[in-house]
Amino acid sequence: MSQDIEHVQCLIIGSGPAGYTAAIYAARADLKPVLYTGMLAGGQLTQTTEVENFPGYPDGIQGPEMMEHFQKQAERFGTDIRFGYISSVDLSGTPHKVVVDEVKTILADTVIISTGASAKWLGLESEQKYNGFGVSACAVCDGFFFKNQDVAIVGAGDTAAEEATYLAKLCRKVYMIVRREEFRASKAMVSRVQNTPNIEIFYSSETQEIVGDGQSVTGVRIKNNLTSEERLLDVTGFFVAIGHHPNTDIFKEYIETDEIGYIITKSGSTETNVEGVFACGDAQDKIFRQAITAAGTGCMAALEAERYLAAKESVVAAN
Ligand code: NDP
Repeated sequence: MSQDIEHVQCLIIGSGPAGYTAAIYAARADLKPVLYTGMLAGGQLTQTTEVENFPGYPDGIQGPEMMEHFQKQAERFGTDIRFGYISSVDLSGTPHKVVVDEVKTILADTVIISTGASAKWLGLESEQKYNGFGVSACAVCDGFFFKNQDVAIVGAGDTAAEEATYLAKLCRKVYMIVRREEFRASKAMVSRVQNTPNIEIFYSSETQEIVGDGQSVTGVRIKNNLTSEERLLDVTGFFVAIGHHPNTDIFKEYIETDEIGYIITKSGSTETNVEGVFACGDAQDKIFRQAITAAGTGCMAALEAERYLAAKESVVAAN
């Protein structure tokens, strides 16, 4: 039986802003990158509506259209973009071994991991129905659309606390829905939330339903777990900030991650603990998680991959 094996200089895994930016830089450096898109080609931004904070688009742009631009730009310089899912990896030696869709093996001199992270959702039907129409998992991306309006945010970690204070600067009122009697966020963040006059916190409370008029969100129904009291909050925006899941499970045997699964990179670099493997974008960033920061680290990863290959070549030439 013939085996499907291919050797590449630079393999990029993932097709969000980090992956495509890495591809643009790697292709222009003549690394002939091969990029596998993953199941959600284009990444998280393909599930967004309007993007207004990516520089270069003064009038804003729809998320899916922006990702088409990223893709075209990567293709223009010769990136080989393929639809496929990485099913397993072996990063124990060089070249690195990556299996695509359980059938094809890629031997890669460098690997750029840009697999992103997925926002966690409550799992309510109404949350799905109004996603992009009042429901969002990113306050920094979408808060502006709710300027001077009333919004709600669910979650009690650092992200929720940070996003609630961000929203409080833009919105008239921010209702914060915390499922336990206390926050998980750091003391400093909690105190900032508690001292913001237009944030009202509902402790021990669960989201029952996001209410809408068929077009967009008009309210959220919450229930106090201790008293069973229910109330309807009139809001036009509902933000979910209950954590993210970095898409790094297949690398964990070889690549160092933190306790959540975010890949640990060297300070000021995209280098991982495995030589020739670089990580960029949300797979290694739990703090900023923006398209522009992902693109920035994608650029860094390609430049570092190129330098790594050049250094290896010069060692070979010297021997
Ligand atoms: P976390 O996992 O820390 O917090 C998630 C929060 O969501 C918890 O309070 C949790 O409640 C709540 N939650 C989970 N599921 C539900 C649900 N179904 N319904 C209601 N609430 C729910 O995620 P974060 O994104 O906040 O933070 C991730 C990591 O990133 C942390 O290590 C954090 O410190 C870090 N971070 C650091 C920042 C900074 O330094 N500036 C900024 C943002 C994040 P419960 O507490 O009851 O489990």
